[in-house]
Amino acid sequence: MNQQRCERDGCSRIVFFRSHTCLEHSQDSTAAAAAAIDFLLQQSELRDLCFDGLRMSGLQLSGRTFERCSFRHCAIERCELSRVKFNLCFLEFAHISCCSFAHSDIRRSVFGVSRLSDNDFNDCELIECNFNGVSCTDTRFDDSDLLSSRFIGADLSRVGFRNCNVREVHFGNTSLASCDFRYSNIEDAYRQIPGRRL
Ligand SMILES: [Zn+2]
Repeated sequence: MNQQRCERDGCSRIVFFRSHTCLEHSQDSTAAAAAAIDFLLQQSELRDLCFDGLRMSGLQLSGRTFERCSFRHCAIERCELSRVKFNLCFLEFAHISCCSFAHSDIRRSVFGVSRLSDNDFNDCELIECNFNGVSCTDTRFDDSDLLSSRFIGADLSRVGFRNCNVREVHFGNTSLASCDFRYSNIEDAYRQIPGRRL
């Protein structure tokens, strides 16, 4: 990914898509955001791009491939993201609500400290992903493979993990209010202390 920094003095953010500044410091942030959304809608494969701070609402993005893309601090709502591929993507500090990621393949991607509400991650591969510190409510991961993912220090409420593979998944110091682990191999997950099972 382009690691070039925003040219505004004192700003250390990575430059936004096709910009010399971050989105906030763009001379015309509306045009910069619109260009990014046009690109997202037109391309099927996106690599090494920064969309940090973008507001994405009601977008049809099914089947896209995202590699090494950044969506930090994005507001992503009512987007159709089913059957997407995410590899090494960064979604920290994002607000993700009412989105469908069903049947997606999401690997080594980071959702840390994001706020997730009312999303569908049913029947996904979520391999080695990081959900540390997330606040997640009314979201479904049912029928998914979560191998070696992390939910450390997370606050999960009314989250479905039915019929999941949670082998080597870490739920250390995690609040699990009204979460449903029926038909999942919870004996293979870690809770609180390494080595102690859920
Ligand atoms: Zn900036």
